[in-house]
Amino acid sequence: MLRETLLGISRNDAVRRMITGFPPTDLLVRNFVAGDHLDDAIAAARRLVDEGLTVTLEHLAGETADRDQADQWTRRYLDLVDRLRKEKLATRAEVSIKPAAIGLELPDGDDVLENARVICIAARAAGTTVIADLEDHRAADETLALAEELRQDYPDTAVVVHSGLRRTESDCHDLAATRSRVRLVKGVHLEDEAIAYARPADVDKSYVRCLKILINGNGYPMIATHDKRLIRIAEALAVQAGRAPGDLEFQFLYGVGLPEQRRLLAAGHTVRIQLPYGSDWYGYLVRRFADRPGNLSLLARGLVRR
Ligand SMILES: Cc1cc2nc3c(=O)[nH]c(=O)nc-3n(C[C@H](O)[C@H](O)[C@H](O)COP(=O)(O)OP(=O)(O)OC[C@H]3O[C@@H](n4cnc5c(N)ncnc54)[C@H](O)[C@@H]3O)c2cc1C
Repeated sequence: MLRETLLGISRNDAVRRMITGFPPTDLLVRNFVAGDHLDDAIAAARRLVDEGLTVTLEHLAGETADRDQADQWTRRYLDLVDRLRKEKLATRAEVSIKPAAIGLELPDGDDVLENARVICIAARAAGTTVIADLEDHRAADETLALAEELRQDYPDTAVVVHSGLRRTESDCHDLAATRSRVRLVKGVHLEDEAIAYARPADVDKSYVRCLKILINGNGYPMIATHDKRLIRIAEALAVQAGRAPGDLEFQFLYGVGLPEQRRLLAAGHTVRIQLPYGSDWYGYLVRRFADRPGNLSLLARGLVRR
C-alpha cells in the first residue's frame, strides 16, 4: 500500500517541489545519486572502480516530447561515452540509455534506432558497451525489439527485463537463445494484475524461473537485485550450470547492499554498480523510497534539519 502511494507521488508536482527544494548536496540525495553533473558521476565512478567494482552510468532523463529533445539526449549520452574514453574508464564503466529519452515514444519510430546506433558506434570506438533500460510494460515490446536490432551489429548491447511481468519468462527464453547480455530486475513500476504479478512472493518465484533460464542459457546474465536469498540462489544455479564467476555478474544500485557487494567481490565475482547522476533525480529517489520505505527516515531527518 505504502509502495503504491510512493509510486503515485512520484508523479505529484506539489510533492516534487517540496522535495526538490532540498539543497542538491543534501545527504538524502547523495545517498543514491552521484551528483547533478557528469563530473560528479566520473568522480564517483572512479572511486568505485578503484574499489574493484564495475559501473553503469545512468544520466537521469525526464520526458522527451520531440525530436530536438531526443537529439539533445543523444548528445548527452555521446558526451558521457567520450568522457569515459578520455578518463580511461571505458573498460570498467558502461552506459545506460533510456530509450524513451532518445525517441522511443515519438511518432517516427526510426529516430530511436538512429540515435541508439550513433551511441553504440561511439561506445564501440571508446571500448565500452550500452544497456537499454526498460521502464514499464508499455515499452517492453519496443525496447526488446530495439535491443534485438542493435545486437545485429553490436552484439554486446544489453537489455533489462522485469520478473514482475508475466511475459518475462518467455522473453528470457528468447534472450537466452540469442547469447544476449540480460539484466534481470524485479521491476519497480505499478502494473496491472493482468500483465504483472501482484504478490511479492510471485515476483520472486518468477525471478527464480527467469534466473534458471538465463543461467542455463547461452547469454550473459546480469543479476540485479539486493535480495540476498535470490543472490544465493543465483550463485548456486551458476555452480550447477558450470559457470565460472566471470560468466555472469551481480548488479546493485549505487548506495545499496554494500556488505553483499563486498562478499561477492571477495568470491571473485564481477560486481557492477548502477550509478545515476543528473539534476532530474526526483522520480528516481521516490522509486528508491518505494523499494524500501525505511529510506523515508532519511527524508524525515532532512526535513527536520531544514
Ligand atoms: C542494477 C539495477 C538496475 C535496475 N534497473 C531497473 C530498471 O531498468 N527498471 C526498473 O523498473 N527497475 C530497475 N531496478 C530496480 C528494481 O526493479 C527494484 O525496484 C529494486 O532493485 C528493488 O528490488 P530488489 O530486487 O532489490 O528486491 P526487494 O525485495 O525490493 O529488496 C530486497 C532487499 O534489499 C533492500 N533494498 C531494496 N532496494 C533498496 C534501496 N533502494 N535502499 C535500501 N535497501 C533496499 C530491501 O529492503 C530488502 O531487504 C534496478 C535495480 C538494480 C539493482
